[in-house]
Amino acid sequence: MPVLLWLRRDLRLADNPALLAAADRARATGDEVAALFVVDPALWSSPPTPRLAYLARSLRALDERLGGRLTIRTGRPEQVVPAVAHELAAPSVHVAAATEPYGQRRDDRVERALGVELVRTGCPYAVAPGRLVTRAGTPFQVYTAFRDAWLDHGWAAPAPEPAGVPWADVPGDPLPEASTEVPLSAAGEVAARERWSAFVAEALADYRWTRDRPDLAGTSAMSAALKYGEVHPRTLLADLAAAARAGVDPASAATFRDELAWRDFHADVLWHRPDATHRSLRAVASDDDWATGAAADAAFDAWAAGRTGYPFVDAGMRQLAETGWMHNRLRMVVASFLVKDLHVAWQRGAALFLDGLVDGDTAQNQLNWQWVAGTGRDAAPYFRVFNPVAQGQRLDPEGDYVRRWVPELRALPGAAVHEPWAAPGGPPPGYPPRLVDHATERRVALDAYHAHRAAR
Ligand code: FAD
Repeated sequence: MPVLLWLRRDLRLADNPALLAAADRARATGDEVAALFVVDPALWSSPPTPRLAYLARSLRALDERLGGRLTIRTGRPEQVVPAVAHELAAPSVHVAAATEPYGQRRDDRVERALGVELVRTGCPYAVAPGRLVTRAGTPFQVYTAFRDAWLDHGWAAPAPEPAGVPWADVPGDPLPEASTEVPLSAAGEVAARERWSAFVAEALADYRWTRDRPDLAGTSAMSAALKYGEVHPRTLLADLAAAARAGVDPASAATFRDELAWRDFHADVLWHRPDATHRSLRAVASDDDWATGAAADAAFDAWAAGRTGYPFVDAGMRQLAETGWMHNRLRMVVASFLVKDLHVAWQRGAALFLDGLVDGDTAQNQLNWQWVAGTGRDAAPYFRVFNPVAQGQRLDPEGDYVRRWVPELRALPGAAVHEPWAAPGGPPPGYPPRLVDHATERRVALDAYHAHRAAR
């Protein structure tokens, strides 16, 4: 009677509390552990998004680590999981808690349909969403206060991979196939740990200086691994603390740790406000201020295709289309451009990101979009409008990032690439003129936001 371990966003063997709980239960009764992944049609879109293609790879890597004993079943979890539990006569089903709206509803449905206990142990965050509240017992409104409480709360040391787990061999469907046009990095726990070790050894020390520079490989590229739980943030936090103790610039380690605190903060916001997936947490403009109709559609399409005539914005969007990933600074700049220069509601851009990003994640994507749009909890001030030219000149000073992703501009030297309209011979052929004038549209956005505030 194997104990059932239902894996979802926790595709690893080390530091996996749900696995430890399942293994303990199995050990107590002398049974095996059956590892199950359910291909849920509600999440498995066709054609597959880059993140599903990454997930398929990650499942293959996990299956290899389990010696081919990852059981795949396809169907609605509330039908599949109880059926497998029944088939195996499993005494319990173990999961890491899902904290986002769809996962919570799904698990509640599964729990109701199961004849045995659904045991939730751990979750994908260092501190479980909803655990931290202010002294008044209310959710944190401000990131820095949340981060301080998060640090005070702390987290357990990462647990090593359990030895000698008796994995059950349960027949299932073939591993899901999902291909994508974008080149994916190696997936799976081992690859994630290797990538992380290389980052700690080579780039962590400079992280606070290089993390905003898209022309340098200054970030960890761990987001997809964190999304699918190939590594738990607890493990990264322990390594960051160890690196700082070993003399790696403590300020850089703290900067990285604070990014993981943002990840937990967004998950916490979504826990308290599940409607934040689609509803602005605060209104910065009236509904009429958002562009709709054919002109807005054309502007959105130009933005999505990386043809706005603003090189830094276009480079970001093309990096997304070609690689399924975009540097964080570019995510902020292109999101600001869509919302504040083209006046398109954030939800539309967020949907395109979620479909295109290999690390696409409901909590992180929707709440970061709300941050840029000024509609989120502790968001960027509504009057902060990223200047796409100045951002490029400051953070891509030699223009290498733009030239890499916008081939039409490769003939322009250095920082001249950020203002092709000012090139002596005129803008290079094939590159579009500016879709809008940034200074004018910035004014339009701010006037609308101010009018909305005044009317309230
Ligand atoms: P690093 O700089 O190495 O950061 C380390 C880790 O910290 C990241 O892997 C991530 O888990 C976390 N982190 C870093 N920045 C943020 C942030 N602003 N918010 C929350 N966590 C952060 N991240 C996603 O994982 N999925 C998304 O769908 C997503 N959508 C975004 C949309 C917008 C509009 C913006 C502005 C940001 C979005 N981010 C998202 C956050 C961030 O851009 C990515 O996590 C980061 O670029 C991933 O690259 P990295 O792992 O090299 O980052």
